[in-house]
Amino acid sequence: MRTIANFIDGELVEPVGGAYFDDLDPATGAVCGRVPDSDRADVEAAVAAARRAFGGWSVTPAAERCRVLLRLADLIEADIDDLARLESIDTGKPLALARSVDIPRAAANFRFFATAILHTRTDAYQTDTRALNITLRRPRGVAGLISPWNLPLYLLSWKIAPALATGNTAVAKPSELTPLTAHRLAELCREAGLPRGVLNIVHGFGEKAGAAIVEHPDVPTISFTGGTETGARIARTAGPMFKRLALECGGKNPTIVFADADLDEALPTSVRAAFSNQGEICLCGSRVLVERSIYDSFVDDFVERTKKLTVGDPLEEGTDLGALISREHLDKVESYVALAREEGGTVRCGGRRPPAINDRCRNGVFLEPTVVTGLDAACRTNREEIFGPVVTIMPFDDQQQAVEMANATRYGLAASLWTRDLDRGHRVAEQLQSGTVWVNCWLLRDLRVPFGGMKESGVGREGGEEAIRFFTEPKNVCIKLSDETTRQPRKSDS
Ligand code: NAD
Repeated sequence: MRTIANFIDGELVEPVGGAYFDDLDPATGAVCGRVPDSDRADVEAAVAAARRAFGGWSVTPAAERCRVLLRLADLIEADIDDLARLESIDTGKPLALARSVDIPRAAANFRFFATAILHTRTDAYQTDTRALNITLRRPRGVAGLISPWNLPLYLLSWKIAPALATGNTAVAKPSELTPLTAHRLAELCREAGLPRGVLNIVHGFGEKAGAAIVEHPDVPTISFTGGTETGARIARTAGPMFKRLALECGGKNPTIVFADADLDEALPTSVRAAFSNQGEICLCGSRVLVERSIYDSFVDDFVERTKKLTVGDPLEEGTDLGALISREHLDKVESYVALAREEGGTVRCGGRRPPAINDRCRNGVFLEPTVVTGLDAACRTNREEIFGPVVTIMPFDDQQQAVEMANATRYGLAASLWTRDLDRGHRVAEQLQSGTVWVNCWLLRDLRVPFGGMKESGVGREGGEEAIRFFTEPKNVCIKLSDETTRQPRKSDS
Protein backbone atom coordinates (compact mmCIF):
# COMPACT_ATOMS: atom_id res chain seq x y z
CA MET A 1 0.00 0.00 0.00
CA ARG A 2 1.31 3.42 -0.92
CA THR A 3 1.16 6.52 1.22
CA ILE A 4 0.40 9.45 -1.01
CA ALA A 5 2.06 12.78 -0.22
CA ASN A 6 1.19 16.33 -1.07
CA PHE A 7 3.75 18.04 -3.31
CA ILE A 8 4.44 21.49 -1.98
CA ASP A 9 7.41 23.73 -2.71
CA GLY A 10 9.26 20.87 -4.35
CA GLU A 11 8.88 18.52 -1.37
CA LEU A 12 6.68 15.48 -0.83
CA VAL A 13 5.00 16.31 2.46
CA GLU A 14 2.36 15.02 4.85
CA PRO A 15 -0.88 16.96 5.22
CA VAL A 16 -0.68 19.63 7.92
CA GLY A 17 -3.56 18.06 9.89
CA GLY A 18 -2.04 14.57 9.62
CA ALA A 19 -5.34 13.01 8.42
CA TYR A 20 -5.58 10.39 5.67
CA PHE A 21 -8.32 8.37 3.99
CA ASP A 22 -8.21 5.12 2.04
CA ASP A 23 -7.84 4.79 -1.71
CA LEU A 24 -9.62 1.67 -2.98
CA ASP A 25 -8.83 -0.47 -6.00
CA PRO A 26 -12.31 -0.81 -7.51
CA ALA A 27 -11.44 -4.11 -9.23
CA THR A 28 -10.66 -5.84 -5.94
CA GLY A 29 -12.05 -3.65 -3.17
CA ALA A 30 -8.59 -3.65 -1.56
CA VAL A 31 -7.03 -0.55 -0.07
CA CYS A 32 -4.28 0.53 -2.46
CA GLY A 33 -3.23 3.80 -0.90
CA ARG A 34 -3.54 6.30 1.94
CA VAL A 35 -4.55 9.73 0.68
CA PRO A 36 -3.92 13.01 2.48
CA ASP A 37 -7.18 14.54 3.66
CA SER A 38 -5.85 18.02 2.97
CA ASP A 39 -7.54 21.16 4.17
CA ARG A 40 -7.23 24.93 3.96
CA ALA A 41 -3.81 24.92 5.67
CA ASP A 42 -2.30 22.66 2.98
CA VAL A 43 -3.82 24.76 0.22
CA GLU A 44 -2.49 27.90 1.91
CA ALA A 45 1.05 26.46 1.91
CA ALA A 46 0.72 25.34 -1.72
CA VAL A 47 -0.53 28.73 -2.90
CA ALA A 48 2.23 30.51 -0.97
CA ALA A 49 4.85 28.29 -2.62
CA ALA A 50 3.31 28.85 -6.06
CA ARG A 51 3.29 32.60 -5.49
CA ARG A 52 6.95 32.59 -4.49
CA ALA A 53 7.87 30.53 -7.55
CA PHE A 54 5.89 32.72 -9.95
CA GLY A 55 8.43 35.55 -9.98
CA GLY A 56 11.20 33.35 -11.37
CA TRP A 57 9.20 30.92 -13.52
CA SER A 58 7.14 33.62 -15.26
CA VAL A 59 10.33 35.25 -16.61
CA THR A 60 12.20 32.02 -17.33
CA PRO A 61 12.87 32.00 -21.09
CA ALA A 62 10.38 29.92 -23.05
CA ALA A 63 13.19 27.72 -24.34
CA GLU A 64 14.13 26.78 -20.77
CA ARG A 65 10.53 26.12 -19.71
CA CYS A 66 10.25 23.97 -22.83
CA ARG A 67 13.38 22.03 -21.92
CA VAL A 68 12.15 21.12 -18.42
CA LEU A 69 8.69 20.11 -19.63
CA LEU A 70 10.14 17.98 -22.42
CA ARG A 71 12.30 16.23 -19.87
CA LEU A 72 9.18 15.56 -17.82
CA ALA A 73 7.47 14.11 -20.92
CA ASP A 74 10.45 11.81 -21.48
CA LEU A 75 10.33 10.65 -17.87
CA ILE A 76 6.61 9.90 -18.11
CA GLU A 77 7.24 7.85 -21.21
CA ALA A 78 10.12 5.98 -19.61
CA ASP A 79 7.88 5.21 -16.62
CA ILE A 80 4.92 4.03 -18.70
CA ASP A 81 4.76 0.53 -17.22
CA ASP A 82 4.48 1.77 -13.64
CA LEU A 83 2.21 4.67 -14.45
CA ALA A 84 -0.17 2.53 -16.50
CA ARG A 85 -0.39 -0.04 -13.73
CA LEU A 86 -1.06 2.63 -11.10
CA GLU A 87 -3.77 4.16 -13.31
CA SER A 88 -5.40 0.80 -13.88
CA ILE A 89 -5.36 -0.10 -10.18
CA ASP A 90 -6.74 3.29 -9.19
CA THR A 91 -9.56 3.52 -11.75
CA GLY A 92 -10.39 -0.08 -12.65
CA LYS A 93 -9.72 0.62 -16.33
CA PRO A 94 -8.02 -2.04 -18.46
CA LEU A 95 -4.25 -1.87 -18.12
CA ALA A 96 -3.95 -2.06 -21.90
CA LEU A 97 -6.06 1.10 -22.24
CA ALA A 98 -3.99 3.00 -19.67
CA ARG A 99 -0.86 1.88 -21.49
CA SER A 100 -2.03 2.74 -24.97
CA VAL A 101 -4.06 5.89 -24.28
CA ASP A 102 -3.83 7.52 -20.85
CA ILE A 103 -0.11 7.59 -20.23
CA PRO A 104 1.10 8.28 -23.79
CA ARG A 105 -1.40 11.12 -23.92
CA ALA A 106 -0.06 12.62 -20.68
CA ALA A 107 3.45 12.67 -22.20
CA ALA A 108 2.01 14.13 -25.42
CA ASN A 109 0.27 16.90 -23.49
CA PHE A 110 3.57 18.05 -21.98
CA ARG A 111 5.37 17.80 -25.33
CA PHE A 112 2.64 19.65 -27.17
CA PHE A 113 2.53 22.69 -24.89
CA ALA A 114 6.29 22.68 -24.20
CA THR A 115 6.91 23.20 -27.91
CA ALA A 116 3.79 25.30 -28.62
CA ILE A 117 5.24 28.17 -26.56
CA LEU A 118 8.23 28.33 -28.90
CA HIS A 119 5.91 29.26 -31.75
CA THR A 120 3.54 31.81 -30.27
CA ARG A 121 3.05 35.16 -31.95
CA THR A 122 1.35 38.31 -30.87
CA ASP A 123 -0.95 40.83 -32.53
CA ALA A 124 -0.09 44.38 -33.49
CA TYR A 125 -2.62 46.93 -34.75
CA GLN A 126 -1.52 50.12 -36.39
CA THR A 127 -3.88 53.07 -35.91
CA ASP A 128 -3.29 54.86 -39.20
CA THR A 129 0.10 56.49 -38.81
CA ARG A 130 -0.66 57.75 -35.30
CA ALA A 131 -0.12 54.78 -33.02
CA LEU A 132 1.01 51.23 -32.79
CA ASN A 133 -0.87 48.80 -30.52
CA ILE A 134 0.89 45.67 -29.36
CA THR A 135 -0.86 42.87 -27.47
CA LEU A 136 1.32 41.54 -24.70
CA ARG A 137 0.36 38.18 -23.22
CA ARG A 138 1.59 37.48 -19.72
CA PRO A 139 1.02 34.53 -17.38
CA ARG A 140 -1.76 35.25 -14.89
CA GLY A 141 -0.18 33.95 -11.67
CA VAL A 142 -1.22 30.88 -9.69
CA ALA A 143 -3.61 28.58 -11.53
CA GLY A 144 -5.96 26.24 -9.65
CA LEU A 145 -6.32 22.99 -11.60
CA ILE A 146 -9.01 20.51 -10.56
CA SER A 147 -9.53 17.21 -12.34
CA PRO A 148 -11.80 14.13 -12.22
CA TRP A 149 -11.19 10.39 -11.80
CA ASN A 150 -11.98 8.96 -15.21
CA LEU A 151 -8.78 9.92 -17.05
CA PRO A 152 -6.62 10.95 -14.10
CA LEU A 153 -3.16 11.72 -15.48
CA TYR A 154 -4.44 12.42 -18.98
CA LEU A 155 -6.70 15.26 -17.83
CA LEU A 156 -4.51 16.59 -15.06
CA SER A 157 -1.58 16.94 -17.47
CA TRP A 158 -3.91 18.54 -20.03
CA LYS A 159 -4.22 21.40 -17.53
CA ILE A 160 -0.78 21.42 -15.93
CA ALA A 161 1.08 21.47 -19.26
CA PRO A 162 -0.43 24.68 -20.72
CA ALA A 163 -0.51 26.42 -17.32
CA LEU A 164 3.19 25.84 -16.70
CA ALA A 165 4.32 26.22 -20.30
CA THR A 166 2.86 29.73 -20.43
CA GLY A 167 4.72 30.73 -17.25
CA ASN A 168 2.05 30.30 -14.61
CA THR A 169 2.63 28.35 -11.46
CA ALA A 170 -0.07 25.97 -10.23
CA VAL A 171 -1.84 24.26 -7.41
CA ALA A 172 -3.42 21.08 -8.75
CA LYS A 173 -5.95 18.82 -7.09
CA PRO A 174 -6.52 15.36 -8.57
CA SER A 175 -9.68 13.46 -7.78
CA GLU A 176 -9.73 11.96 -4.29
CA LEU A 177 -10.59 8.64 -5.95
CA THR A 178 -7.49 8.50 -8.16
CA PRO A 179 -4.39 10.06 -6.58
CA LEU A 180 -1.75 7.47 -7.54
CA THR A 181 -0.41 8.79 -10.85
CA ALA A 182 -0.44 12.40 -9.63
CA HIS A 183 1.80 11.33 -6.76
CA ARG A 184 4.15 9.64 -9.22
CA LEU A 185 4.07 12.76 -11.42
CA ALA A 186 5.30 14.80 -8.45
CA GLU A 187 8.30 12.48 -8.10
CA LEU A 188 9.01 12.82 -11.81
CA CYS A 189 8.78 16.63 -11.61
CA ARG A 190 11.60 16.56 -9.07
CA GLU A 191 13.64 14.34 -11.34
CA ALA A 192 12.98 16.60 -14.32
CA GLY A 193 14.35 19.58 -12.43
CA LEU A 194 11.14 21.58 -12.29
CA PRO A 195 11.93 24.46 -9.95
CA ARG A 196 10.41 24.30 -6.46
CA GLY A 197 6.88 25.58 -6.14
CA VAL A 198 6.15 25.79 -9.86
CA LEU A 199 3.77 22.85 -9.56
CA ASN A 200 2.13 21.96 -6.26
CA ILE A 201 -0.27 19.06 -5.85
CA VAL A 202 -2.72 18.93 -2.96
CA HIS A 203 -4.70 15.73 -2.48
CA GLY A 204 -8.05 15.45 -0.77
CA PHE A 205 -11.78 15.90 -1.06
CA GLY A 206 -13.42 18.40 -3.35
CA GLU A 207 -15.57 20.14 -0.77
CA LYS A 208 -12.52 20.70 1.42
CA ALA A 209 -9.24 20.94 -0.52
CA GLY A 210 -10.89 21.74 -3.88
CA ALA A 211 -13.13 24.43 -2.43
CA ALA A 212 -10.16 26.00 -0.60
CA ILE A 213 -8.34 26.39 -3.94
CA VAL A 214 -11.40 27.91 -5.62
CA GLU A 215 -11.97 30.31 -2.69
CA HIS A 216 -8.36 31.40 -2.39
CA PRO A 217 -7.98 35.09 -3.31
CA ASP A 218 -4.47 34.54 -4.69
CA VAL A 219 -5.60 31.99 -7.30
CA PRO A 220 -7.03 34.11 -10.13
CA THR A 221 -7.41 31.28 -12.65
CA ILE A 222 -9.44 28.11 -12.18
CA SER A 223 -9.51 25.28 -14.68
CA PHE A 224 -11.95 22.55 -13.69
CA THR A 225 -13.02 19.28 -15.28
CA GLY A 226 -15.75 17.27 -13.61
CA GLY A 227 -19.48 17.08 -13.12
CA THR A 228 -21.91 19.84 -14.12
CA GLU A 229 -23.25 20.32 -10.57
CA THR A 230 -19.72 20.77 -9.22
CA GLY A 231 -18.95 23.18 -12.06
CA ALA A 232 -21.98 25.28 -11.12
CA ARG A 233 -20.90 25.33 -7.48
CA ILE A 234 -17.40 26.45 -8.42
CA ALA A 235 -18.83 29.17 -10.68
CA ARG A 236 -20.96 30.48 -7.79
CA THR A 237 -17.80 31.01 -5.74
CA ALA A 238 -15.37 32.08 -8.43
CA GLY A 239 -17.71 34.33 -10.44
CA PRO A 240 -18.10 37.10 -7.85
CA MET A 241 -14.33 36.95 -7.22
CA PHE A 242 -13.79 37.79 -10.93
CA LYS A 243 -11.66 34.72 -11.47
CA ARG A 244 -11.04 33.41 -14.97
CA LEU A 245 -12.86 30.11 -15.24
CA ALA A 246 -12.80 27.16 -17.57
CA LEU A 247 -15.42 24.53 -16.75
CA GLU A 248 -15.33 21.25 -18.63
CA CYS A 249 -18.38 19.38 -17.43
CA GLY A 250 -20.71 16.49 -18.20
CA GLY A 251 -22.14 15.19 -21.42
CA LYS A 252 -24.91 13.03 -22.89
CA ASN A 253 -23.53 12.62 -26.33
CA PRO A 254 -25.47 11.42 -29.37
CA THR A 255 -24.15 9.06 -32.01
CA ILE A 256 -26.27 9.59 -35.15
CA VAL A 257 -26.26 6.88 -37.78
CA PHE A 258 -27.91 7.58 -41.15
CA ALA A 259 -28.99 4.70 -43.37
CA ASP A 260 -26.30 5.48 -45.94
CA ALA A 261 -23.48 5.16 -43.36
CA ASP A 262 -20.62 2.74 -43.82
CA LEU A 263 -21.87 0.31 -41.20
CA ASP A 264 -18.65 -1.70 -41.21
CA GLU A 265 -17.11 1.36 -39.58
CA ALA A 266 -20.12 2.90 -37.85
CA LEU A 267 -21.15 -0.20 -35.91
CA PRO A 268 -17.87 -1.17 -34.23
CA THR A 269 -17.01 2.47 -33.60
CA SER A 270 -20.36 3.26 -31.99
CA VAL A 271 -19.97 0.20 -29.75
CA ARG A 272 -16.48 1.43 -28.81
CA ALA A 273 -17.84 4.96 -28.30
CA ALA A 274 -20.46 3.58 -25.92
CA PHE A 275 -18.29 1.32 -23.77
CA SER A 276 -14.65 2.47 -23.85
CA ASN A 277 -13.31 2.95 -20.34
CA GLN A 278 -16.59 1.35 -19.07
CA GLY A 279 -18.52 4.26 -20.58
CA GLU A 280 -16.71 6.57 -18.18
CA ILE A 281 -15.41 9.06 -20.73
CA CYS A 282 -17.17 12.40 -20.98
CA LEU A 283 -17.08 11.95 -24.78
CA CYS A 284 -18.72 8.51 -24.85
CA GLY A 285 -21.72 8.26 -27.15
CA SER A 286 -24.45 7.15 -24.76
CA ARG A 287 -27.47 7.80 -27.01
CA VAL A 288 -27.37 6.11 -30.40
CA LEU A 289 -29.88 7.51 -32.91
CA VAL A 290 -30.41 5.31 -35.95
CA GLU A 291 -32.41 5.98 -39.14
CA ARG A 292 -35.54 3.84 -39.01
CA SER A 293 -34.94 1.89 -42.22
CA ILE A 294 -31.84 0.23 -40.73
CA TYR A 295 -32.88 0.40 -37.07
CA ASP A 296 -33.83 -3.25 -36.42
CA SER A 297 -30.76 -4.78 -38.02
CA PHE A 298 -28.50 -2.14 -36.46
CA VAL A 299 -29.83 -2.93 -32.97
CA ASP A 300 -29.37 -6.68 -33.49
CA ASP A 301 -25.81 -6.21 -34.65
CA PHE A 302 -25.00 -3.69 -31.90
CA VAL A 303 -26.32 -6.06 -29.23
CA GLU A 304 -24.41 -9.01 -30.68
CA ARG A 305 -21.16 -7.04 -30.65
CA THR A 306 -21.82 -5.81 -27.12
CA LYS A 307 -22.37 -9.34 -25.86
CA LYS A 308 -18.94 -10.28 -27.18
CA LEU A 309 -17.17 -7.66 -25.04
CA THR A 310 -15.23 -9.11 -22.15
CA VAL A 311 -15.81 -7.70 -18.70
CA GLY A 312 -12.74 -8.81 -16.85
CA ASP A 313 -9.79 -8.27 -14.56
CA PRO A 314 -8.33 -4.92 -15.63
CA LEU A 315 -4.80 -6.27 -15.32
CA GLU A 316 -5.43 -9.13 -17.74
CA GLU A 317 -4.94 -9.04 -21.50
CA GLY A 318 -8.15 -9.26 -23.45
CA THR A 319 -10.29 -7.31 -20.99
CA ASP A 320 -12.55 -4.83 -22.79
CA LEU A 321 -14.33 -3.40 -19.75
CA GLY A 322 -12.79 -3.28 -16.29
CA ALA A 323 -14.34 -2.15 -13.02
CA LEU A 324 -16.41 0.98 -12.46
CA ILE A 325 -14.77 3.59 -10.29
CA SER A 326 -16.57 2.84 -7.00
CA ARG A 327 -19.44 1.01 -5.37
CA GLU A 328 -21.38 4.28 -5.06
CA HIS A 329 -20.96 4.88 -8.77
CA LEU A 330 -22.05 1.31 -9.59
CA ASP A 331 -25.17 1.91 -7.47
CA LYS A 332 -25.85 5.10 -9.40
CA VAL A 333 -25.42 3.42 -12.79
CA GLU A 334 -27.61 0.49 -11.73
CA SER A 335 -30.28 2.90 -10.55
CA TYR A 336 -30.39 4.24 -14.12
CA VAL A 337 -30.85 0.73 -15.50
CA ALA A 338 -33.81 0.38 -13.11
CA LEU A 339 -35.09 3.79 -14.20
CA ALA A 340 -34.82 2.79 -17.86
CA ARG A 341 -37.06 -0.21 -17.11
CA GLU A 342 -39.54 1.95 -15.17
CA GLU A 343 -39.67 4.36 -18.10
CA GLY A 344 -40.69 1.51 -20.39
CA GLY A 345 -37.32 0.57 -21.84
CA THR A 346 -36.24 -2.94 -22.78
CA VAL A 347 -32.81 -4.07 -21.63
CA ARG A 348 -31.50 -5.93 -24.67
CA CYS A 349 -28.32 -7.11 -22.98
CA GLY A 350 -26.33 -6.52 -19.83
CA GLY A 351 -27.82 -4.63 -16.90
CA ARG A 352 -26.34 -7.09 -14.40
CA ARG A 353 -23.20 -7.56 -12.42
CA PRO A 354 -21.20 -10.23 -14.25
CA PRO A 355 -20.57 -13.65 -12.72
CA ALA A 356 -17.38 -13.90 -10.64
CA ILE A 357 -14.46 -12.78 -12.77
CA ASN A 358 -11.67 -14.39 -10.81
CA ASP A 359 -10.66 -14.75 -7.21
CA ARG A 360 -8.70 -11.48 -7.15
CA CYS A 361 -11.71 -9.50 -8.39
CA ARG A 362 -14.43 -11.17 -6.32
CA ASN A 363 -15.11 -7.91 -4.41
CA GLY A 364 -14.78 -5.66 -7.43
CA VAL A 365 -17.48 -3.40 -8.85
CA PHE A 366 -18.30 -4.54 -12.37
CA LEU A 367 -21.30 -4.14 -14.64
CA GLU A 368 -22.07 -5.83 -17.93
CA PRO A 369 -22.32 -3.47 -20.89
CA THR A 370 -25.96 -2.60 -21.20
CA VAL A 371 -28.09 -1.76 -24.24
CA VAL A 372 -31.57 -0.31 -23.81
CA THR A 373 -34.19 0.25 -26.50
CA GLY A 374 -37.80 1.41 -26.52
CA LEU A 375 -37.34 4.78 -24.81
CA ASP A 376 -38.19 8.21 -26.17
CA ALA A 377 -35.70 11.06 -26.33
CA ALA A 378 -37.42 13.08 -23.62
CA CYS A 379 -37.25 10.55 -20.77
CA ARG A 380 -34.82 10.97 -17.89
CA THR A 381 -32.69 8.01 -18.96
CA ASN A 382 -32.04 9.84 -22.21
CA ARG A 383 -31.51 13.28 -20.71
CA GLU A 384 -29.35 12.64 -17.64
CA GLU A 385 -25.68 11.71 -17.63
CA ILE A 386 -25.19 8.10 -16.46
CA PHE A 387 -21.41 7.92 -17.04
CA GLY A 388 -21.26 4.16 -17.15
CA PRO A 389 -21.61 1.23 -19.57
CA VAL A 390 -25.23 1.96 -20.45
CA VAL A 391 -26.35 3.03 -23.89
CA THR A 392 -29.76 3.62 -25.43
CA ILE A 393 -30.67 3.16 -29.09
CA MET A 394 -33.57 5.06 -30.67
CA PRO A 395 -34.93 5.29 -34.22
CA PHE A 396 -35.44 8.54 -36.14
CA ASP A 397 -37.34 9.22 -39.35
CA ASP A 398 -35.54 12.13 -40.97
CA GLN A 399 -32.62 14.51 -40.61
CA GLN A 400 -34.66 17.18 -38.83
CA GLN A 401 -35.88 14.74 -36.22
CA ALA A 402 -32.37 13.39 -35.71
CA VAL A 403 -31.09 16.88 -34.96
CA GLU A 404 -33.97 17.63 -32.59
CA MET A 405 -33.43 14.39 -30.69
CA ALA A 406 -29.67 14.94 -30.54
CA ASN A 407 -30.15 18.43 -29.13
CA ALA A 408 -32.83 17.43 -26.61
CA THR A 409 -30.62 17.51 -23.50
CA ARG A 410 -29.13 20.25 -21.36
CA TYR A 411 -25.66 19.05 -22.39
CA GLY A 412 -23.65 19.89 -25.50
CA LEU A 413 -20.23 18.30 -25.29
CA ALA A 414 -19.71 16.01 -28.27
CA ALA A 415 -21.57 14.23 -31.04
CA SER A 416 -20.64 11.83 -33.77
CA LEU A 417 -22.54 11.33 -36.98
CA TRP A 418 -22.26 8.73 -39.65
CA THR A 419 -23.20 9.28 -43.28
CA ARG A 420 -21.62 8.92 -46.71
CA ASP A 421 -23.29 12.17 -47.77
CA LEU A 422 -20.74 14.86 -46.96
CA ASP A 423 -23.20 17.64 -47.65
CA ARG A 424 -25.55 16.20 -45.03
CA GLY A 425 -22.58 15.72 -42.71
CA HIS A 426 -21.84 19.44 -42.93
CA ARG A 427 -25.44 20.53 -42.46
CA VAL A 428 -26.11 18.31 -39.47
CA ALA A 429 -22.77 19.20 -37.86
CA GLU A 430 -23.72 22.88 -38.06
CA GLN A 431 -27.07 22.30 -36.39
CA LEU A 432 -25.83 20.16 -33.51
CA GLN A 433 -25.47 22.00 -30.21
CA SER A 434 -22.13 20.46 -29.41
CA GLY A 435 -18.57 21.61 -28.78
CA THR A 436 -17.17 18.79 -30.92
CA VAL A 437 -18.77 16.98 -33.84
CA TRP A 438 -17.10 13.93 -35.33
CA VAL A 439 -18.15 12.93 -38.82
CA ASN A 440 -17.54 9.25 -39.60
CA CYS A 441 -15.18 8.87 -36.63
CA TRP A 442 -15.04 9.13 -32.86
CA LEU A 443 -12.40 10.37 -30.42
CA LEU A 444 -10.04 11.44 -33.16
CA ARG A 445 -8.25 14.28 -31.37
CA ASP A 446 -5.83 16.89 -32.60
CA LEU A 447 -4.35 18.75 -29.64
CA ARG A 448 -4.51 22.05 -31.54
CA VAL A 449 -8.30 22.19 -31.84
CA PRO A 450 -10.64 23.93 -29.36
CA PHE A 451 -12.06 21.47 -26.86
CA GLY A 452 -15.05 22.12 -24.62
CA GLY A 453 -18.79 22.07 -24.35
CA MET A 454 -21.89 24.11 -25.05
CA LYS A 455 -24.89 24.54 -22.76
CA GLU A 456 -24.37 22.83 -19.38
CA SER A 457 -21.34 20.91 -20.63
CA GLY A 458 -19.24 23.88 -19.71
CA VAL A 459 -17.76 27.27 -20.25
CA GLY A 460 -14.58 28.05 -22.13
CA ARG A 461 -12.34 25.95 -24.32
CA GLU A 462 -9.12 24.03 -23.78
CA GLY A 463 -6.62 22.87 -26.37
CA GLY A 464 -3.99 24.55 -28.51
CA GLU A 465 -4.21 28.30 -28.77
CA GLU A 466 -7.38 28.40 -26.65
CA ALA A 467 -5.43 27.06 -23.68
CA ILE A 468 -2.57 29.44 -24.25
CA ARG A 469 -5.02 32.33 -24.33
CA PHE A 470 -6.83 31.06 -21.25
CA PHE A 471 -3.69 30.94 -19.14
CA THR A 472 -2.37 34.34 -20.26
CA GLU A 473 -3.60 37.88 -19.74
CA PRO A 474 -3.73 40.06 -22.84
CA LYS A 475 -2.61 43.62 -22.34
CA ASN A 476 -2.74 46.23 -25.06
CA VAL A 477 0.19 48.63 -25.15
CA CYS A 478 -0.61 51.66 -27.28
CA ILE A 479 2.44 53.59 -28.44
CA LYS A 480 1.76 56.99 -29.93
CA LEU A 481 3.93 57.63 -32.94
CA SER A 482 5.32 61.07 -33.49
CA ASP A 483 4.04 63.03 -36.43
CA GLU A 484 6.74 62.87 -39.11
CA THR A 485 5.90 66.38 -40.45
CA THR A 486 6.42 68.09 -37.08
CA ARG A 487 9.20 65.85 -35.82
CA GLN A 488 12.32 67.97 -35.25
CA PRO A 489 15.55 66.28 -36.25
CA ARG A 490 17.77 65.67 -33.26
CA LYS A 491 21.46 66.18 -33.40
CA SER A 492 22.02 62.44 -33.25
CA ASP A 493 19.79 61.88 -36.34
CA SER A 494 22.14 63.76 -38.59
P1 NAD B 1 -16.74 15.74 -9.70
O1 NAD B 1 -17.36 17.02 -10.15
O2 NAD B 1 -17.37 15.03 -8.58
O3 NAD B 1 -15.22 15.99 -9.25
C1 NAD B 1 -14.27 16.54 -10.11
C2 NAD B 1 -13.18 17.20 -9.27
O4 NAD B 1 -13.75 18.31 -8.58
C3 NAD B 1 -12.59 16.29 -8.20
O5 NAD B 1 -11.21 16.55 -8.08
C4 NAD B 1 -13.33 16.73 -6.94
O6 NAD B 1 -12.61 16.49 -5.77
C5 NAD B 1 -13.45 18.22 -7.20
N1 NAD B 1 -14.52 18.88 -6.45
C6 NAD B 1 -15.69 18.35 -6.01
N2 NAD B 1 -16.40 19.29 -5.34
C7 NAD B 1 -15.68 20.43 -5.39
C8 NAD B 1 -15.89 21.75 -4.88
N3 NAD B 1 -16.99 22.09 -4.21
N4 NAD B 1 -14.93 22.67 -5.12
C9 NAD B 1 -13.82 22.37 -5.81
N5 NAD B 1 -13.56 21.13 -6.30
C10 NAD B 1 -14.49 20.18 -6.09
O7 NAD B 1 -16.62 14.85 -11.00
P2 NAD B 1 -16.12 13.35 -11.07
O8 NAD B 1 -17.20 12.48 -10.54
O9 NAD B 1 -14.75 13.27 -10.52
O10 NAD B 1 -16.00 13.16 -12.66
C11 NAD B 1 -17.05 12.74 -13.48
C12 NAD B 1 -17.62 13.91 -14.23
O11 NAD B 1 -16.60 14.57 -14.96
C13 NAD B 1 -18.64 13.50 -15.27
O12 NAD B 1 -19.74 14.36 -15.19
C14 NAD B 1 -17.91 13.70 -16.59
O13 NAD B 1 -18.74 13.96 -17.69
C15 NAD B 1 -17.05 14.86 -16.27
N6 NAD B 1 -15.93 14.96 -17.19
C16 NAD B 1 -15.93 15.97 -18.10
C17 NAD B 1 -14.90 16.08 -19.01
C18 NAD B 1 -14.85 17.19 -20.03
O14 NAD B 1 -13.80 17.39 -20.63
N7 NAD B 1 -15.93 17.91 -20.27
C19 NAD B 1 -13.85 15.16 -18.97
C20 NAD B 1 -13.89 14.14 -18.02
C21 NAD B 1 -14.93 14.05 -17.13
